[in-house]
Amino acid sequence: MFSGILQPTHLIIILVIVLVIFGPGKLPEIGGAVGKSLREFKKSTQEPVEPEKPQAAASGGSATATTTLAPVKVCPKCQTENPAVNKFCSSCGGQLELE
Ligand SMILES: [Zn+2]
Repeated sequence: MFSGILQPTHLIIILVIVLVIFGPGKLPEIGGAVGKSLREFKKSTQEPVEPEKPQAAASGGSATATTTLAPVKVCPKCQTENPAVNKFCSSCGGQLELE
């Protein structure tokens, strides 16, 4: 009796029942909701891992604070003061003196 329950014709009947229950106008809504949740799921699974840059964040907001707190290196090319931890000038990108 239930041997042919998963035949394609039954799926069509189920689809028709769904159409009757929700109505043809609701189908794009349902499809959109499913697509949206799928997209959200994909986004959450392959979320880009943001590299932690504490130095970049610190120099971006308070350049003067870093110069007073940390020892500085003066760029030989453009005379810009850089934190001593920097290997390259933040202004011109030139290599700072190695000590
Ligand atoms: Zn420089």
